[in-house]
Amino acid sequence: MAHSSMITHSRPSLEKVDIEAVMQVLGSHQLTQGPCVERFERGMAAMMGVAGGVAVNSGTTALEVTLRAMGVGPGDEVIMPSYVCSAPWLATVRVGAQPRLVDIQLDSYGIDPRAVDKTLSTRTRAIIVPHLFGLPADLAGLEPFGVPLIEDCAQTMGGLVGDRPVGSLGTVTVCSFHATKLLCTGEGGMVLSNDKTILEQVRALREYDEKPSLDSASGNQKLTDLQAALGLSQLDRFQSFLDRRADIADVYRKALMTCDVLQPTVPEGRTHVYYRYVVRVPRLRRQKGRLSDLLFQLERRGVQCRQPVFRALHRYLELEGFPNSEEASETAISIPIYPSMTSEEVARTVQVIAEEFG
Ligand SMILES: *Cc1c(COP(=O)(O)O)cnc(C)c1O
Repeated sequence: MAHSSMITHSRPSLEKVDIEAVMQVLGSHQLTQGPCVERFERGMAAMMGVAGGVAVNSGTTALEVTLRAMGVGPGDEVIMPSYVCSAPWLATVRVGAQPRLVDIQLDSYGIDPRAVDKTLSTRTRAIIVPHLFGLPADLAGLEPFGVPLIEDCAQTMGGLVGDRPVGSLGTVTVCSFHATKLLCTGEGGMVLSNDKTILEQVRALREYDEKPSLDSASGNQKLTDLQAALGLSQLDRFQSFLDRRADIADVYRKALMTCDVLQPTVPEGRTHVYYRYVVRVPRLRRQKGRLSDLLFQLERRGVQCRQPVFRALHRYLELEGFPNSEEASETAISIPIYPSMTSEEVARTVQVIAEEFG
């Protein structure tokens, strides 16, 4: 719906320095994977507190090549939450393995370790752990299972568990630099790990040409230097991005305190980076199917909110038995939050939301 000054749900934080960084690469004529990609990999690894990173063309690709590098394939099972975008499911299916869905913990929107416990089998080769909306999932609850954890940090780069960076605790970590994410390259992703063997495997897989055999690559999955230059420029300002998100989250938390919504909760010892500000609207439970009406109303008033997960995996697959995932699907909405929001936009968002839920 058109609005003269719509506050969009997402907007990349692009400044003159970003544009200049990309222009410089254009001028150098080194357009595809080159020195900028290498620098971006080193910068990301340092930020995430791991030994190294390998850049690829998307977060979905990062998940797929991670599974391949770990030797996951036909006959194997990969556990993942039902409340997540379709990338973990697609990556798992593409390597020929079987996705096993489990429910989430409602308050953190993260995978529920008790549900994982019931789903583990002798075929389980990995657990994909998305840290959703900016909040680290319950890694401590998953570690005792002794199954390799693939941390999906597409929404949580910069988050902390205690004083350790999220993404440095599992076996492997994947990131996404899609235009709407915390740090963007347009499209792009990365595999990060302390495991040099896995990193080498991924490095080999992303390149298709000049191989000893036809099965030693999985396609052309490289990031370009144009994209990496943008990533590096964004990485320089990353802490300021997180600071601005935290400030906006503070404003929202205070303003919505008296409203009929359930606010984000942050378990002790974890740091939320507020990739999304997600609230649950209890009244939607009694009004099934009204979520789209509500989103339409908010958009009409100039604030574009969204369902934070477009459609939960169990819904795509028409499976039952995921009550928390179902509850989140019915009642959760995501309010605009990003570093390039102006104070006026934040104030107007607060006003519209408070009036809607007051
Ligand atoms: C965005 C996202 C992905 C996929 O990343 P793309 O770069 O869009 O392929 C995977 N997992 C989560 C949790 C995401 O938010």
